[in-house]
Amino acid sequence: MHCLECGAPLSRLDNGHLLECSGLTVQEYAIRHQLPLDMILHSDQINLPDHIDNYTGPTARPTETARQVLLGLRWAGLLQEHDGFVDVAGEIRRLDLLLWIQEHLVDYGFQFHQDYEYRADTHRVVAKNFLRAPMRNLVHDWAMPEPPPAFLGALAVYVAQRAEWHAGYLFMAFSRSIYAETVREELVRNHQIHCEILDAADNGGEALLRTRSLADGEKLLDLLQEQLQEMPTAWERFQADTPTASVTKELVFDSAHFITDHPAKCSNLHGGRYVLQVEVTGRIDPITGCVVDYGYLKRVVNHLIIERFDHHHLNYAAEELAWRSSTEMLCVFIWEQLIGYLPGLSSLRLYETTSSWCDYQGRSLAEQQAQGAEPVLYPFRGESEQMARRQRLIQRSGKPRVAACSIS
Ligand SMILES: [Zn+2]
Repeated sequence: MHCLECGAPLSRLDNGHLLECSGLTVQEYAIRHQLPLDMILHSDQINLPDHIDNYTGPTARPTETARQVLLGLRWAGLLQEHDGFVDVAGEIRRLDLLLWIQEHLVDYGFQFHQDYEYRADTHRVVAKNFLRAPMRNLVHDWAMPEPPPAFLGALAVYVAQRAEWHAGYLFMAFSRSIYAETVREELVRNHQIHCEILDAADNGGEALLRTRSLADGEKLLDLLQEQLQEMPTAWERFQADTPTASVTKELVFDSAHFITDHPAKCSNLHGGRYVLQVEVTGRIDPITGCVVDYGYLKRVVNHLIIERFDHHHLNYAAEELAWRSSTEMLCVFIWEQLIGYLPGLSSLRLYETTSSWCDYQGRSLAEQQAQGAEPVLYPFRGESEQMARRQRLIQRSGKPRVAACSIS
């Protein structure tokens, strides 16, 4: 075969040749030339065993930076323990970030791997990028590193790996809720940056933080900008001028309802299948290639809306809907529930039947925060002004008649 990069005749392609001739790994070469890995690799390059003897002990006492990087990776849930090893999971679009991390973790003895595995279930060879070190090299900084590594350095590593930027808000999913709490408290105490803990994104015990306001998001990025700019592929995720796209998830729920004072059949209790389409608009993250993860979108809508409405009576599923569970009021209610979790929310479409539906575009999260509850949802809340008017009207129309009617 010939190398498609440099034309050299080769008995086989491997990272030794490719990195030297083009700077590419085998997996990147495969993507660039649209070749399946199965066609490029020899069988003795696939499913290679690994042994702990291939690794040496820590080469020096790990630097403070190394300890910060390790803590950031732990918050991100990217450290995996198995068979006496610790792996740092990577992916091909963030290869340079993985290599940057290796450079900073080198004192722990981490080695870079691009391993190729044959998957019997899909009959494909797949590549995996990760760093690996023996667990014994990390024991001193594993459980409770003393002294604790500097907060901002660890946070920058975490943000580079896991944070997402949606409509001016930073979303941060942590592998454990204790990490989310630590980061939230530290940001308020030392940097006056506020974050909310969101409870709807249950994803294997992860905890989710969102910067509270547009100002908090900007402040946090400003705080980390210098450190993020040093990490390959990190800063561009938050700043690159990429195209905007809209993504939509459709979910259904079966519910009963009636419409109070409706002049036709809708005043009767009846059931139906509602189809809800949730559209989110935003810039495409250049590293994930997505506006928002469909899995997250589905989890949030399921947790906040579908679980509440499906096989329930809409008039009693939420106080806001007791009087009017029309598609319009449902849309306003749903929007108000979702916007904090999906600040890129751009449109809702709700079908009550295949031929009747409502489209709605509501307020931005910043507007909701500034204006408070949407008044159309609370006509019976009994504001003091409204109650005073009611009392005046009752007095004028005469209480005795009301009393006389109730007696007869
Ligand atoms: Zn070559």
